[in-house]
Amino acid sequence: MDINFDSSIIENYQSGTQIARVLTENWIQQNMYCPRCGNLHIKHFENNRPVADFFCPACKNEYELKSKNGILKNKINDGAYRTMIERITSNNNPDFLFMSYSKKELQVRELILVPKHFFVPDIIEKRKPLAASARRAGWEGCNILIDKIPEQGKIRIISNGEVIDANAVIGKVNKSKQFEIKDINSRGWLFDILNCVNRIPRQIFTLDEIYFFEKELQTKHPKNNNIKPKIRQQLQLLRDKGFIEFVGNGKYSKIV
Ligand SMILES: [Zn+2]
Repeated sequence: MDINFDSSIIENYQSGTQIARVLTENWIQQNMYCPRCGNLHIKHFENNRPVADFFCPACKNEYELKSKNGILKNKINDGAYRTMIERITSNNNPDFLFMSYSKKELQVRELILVPKHFFVPDIIEKRKPLAASARRAGWEGCNILIDKIPEQGKIRIISNGEVIDANAVIGKVNKSKQFEIKDINSRGWLFDILNCVNRIPRQIFTLDEIYFFEKELQTKHPKNNNIKPKIRQQLQLLRDKGFIEFVGNGKYSKIV
């Protein structure tokens, strides 16, 4: 994998957005392997499809690329809010590749894979509808809230210009398949608790430390009157899935 863009392909382009699209899409075609099955390349769909940009010829998995010059922010603009929510709730969204590149150095700085099952409605924010004077007045776009995605769902392929070993990436993707839970509400709860676990800075933590988040979780799930049992249930699920282990005396250990 070469983090540099191939600038020879942009000679005939004038517009900045077009140049960025051609450079980044070409880079993916030339350099990116399939992080799910390890196939040596992924391909661009021939026509502009509304759902995904790339697919793996071997395992058929689909990918959408969002790229940006400069630092990746916590909020990333995406298309129509309703379409996004529909795709997420019907489990037919692609995996996302978030890329940040340097326009000056013409190279990729960060590339992060977020597998499709990490998308829950909670990480999609509705943007203000377009003003009445706009061409598409009333249209509602969305933002993807990257910081709400658990760390386990942000798999780094390139980090600060450094290429991460492909086998390590594929291993993480495989492990993340533990979160392929069809029911979106159950998945949302599991991610809520996983985010709480991730926020505790130590490897060993107690049940009481997780109960500390009870109020916050209650505000988020006002209809649930049994937050504590729910927490315990989700911790058990995280244990069954191999992300934490119970070490006795009400203590848990993160498995890293
Ligand atoms: Zn594949």
